[in-house]
Amino acid sequence: MKMVSTIAEMQRLADDLRCQGKRIGVVPTMGYLHEGHLSLIKIARQNADSIITTIFVNPTQFGPDEDFAKYPRDLDRDTKLAETAGTDILFVPSAEEMYRDDHFTYVTVEKLTDVLEGKARPMHFRGVTTIVTKLFNITKPHVAVFGQKDAQQAIVIERMIRDLNFDLRIIVAPIVRDNDGLAMSSRNVYLCQRERIESTVLSQSLRLAETLIAQGERKCSTVISEMTKLITTTSAKIDYVSIVDAETLREYITLPSGARVLISLAARFGTTRLIDNTIITV
Ligand code: AMP
Repeated sequence: MKMVSTIAEMQRLADDLRCQGKRIGVVPTMGYLHEGHLSLIKIARQNADSIITTIFVNPTQFGPDEDFAKYPRDLDRDTKLAETAGTDILFVPSAEEMYRDDHFTYVTVEKLTDVLEGKARPMHFRGVTTIVTKLFNITKPHVAVFGQKDAQQAIVIERMIRDLNFDLRIIVAPIVRDNDGLAMSSRNVYLCQRERIESTVLSQSLRLAETLIAQGERKCSTVISEMTKLITTTSAKIDYVSIVDAETLREYITLPSGARVLISLAARFGTTRLIDNTIITV
């Protein structure tokens, strides 16, 4: 595996690969890799010839009161994991390499970023769509793999690709969970033992929603209130629990049959904010 830290070298390598007729797959990450990230790299391997994994803790997607400074980092460990999972090139630029002092250009996707995570974290998606655009221009991929763990992010990026005619295909990979159901996340290391045990309530509430809907419940307020009841048996502070159309992100009041629905939530355990979701067809 080759390590690259400059934009110029990464673009040159990507050009070489394209000239050789190789299909490039990219997996953008913020590092501190876990099985969720590794599953994306493996899926990229199955869908492209040369795999570029990127590690960059992107300052522009963090709010001023968020965890940018303390976001977990371990490049040595990440390097080994990324290579074992099938990465050919690990692109690890510095913040100075990615953002010059006079960086004035941002990419924004409207409407879809006004709700859910976008409402709770203003400017977050502007940072995400800007860095993803930059990473696409630097790694020149045919295929990019993102996780359903960040469902709204995947939906926003898919819309950006469609609207701006990026010449690449997106694959959205399923959520990888720990044995007890907690969705894997680099942020799970922040949880103390009690919070880690309590956090399983998030995936349990999503399973409860699936069961209620499978049993015929169609009123979203009922499903949301049952989920809320379950989550608040713990110390969790709910940010939102929401049921929306999985493409437009418009809220449902009553679920129409055949609808593809995103049930998502964000909650805080102490200072740690976790998100989880499920997508179902009613
Ligand atoms: P991050 O490093 O948290 O920015 O995540 C990088 C990519 O990995 C994003 O596309 C995430 O959606 C994806 N990802 C993170 N956690 C998981 C997970 N548990 N299962 C699948 N994909 C994940």
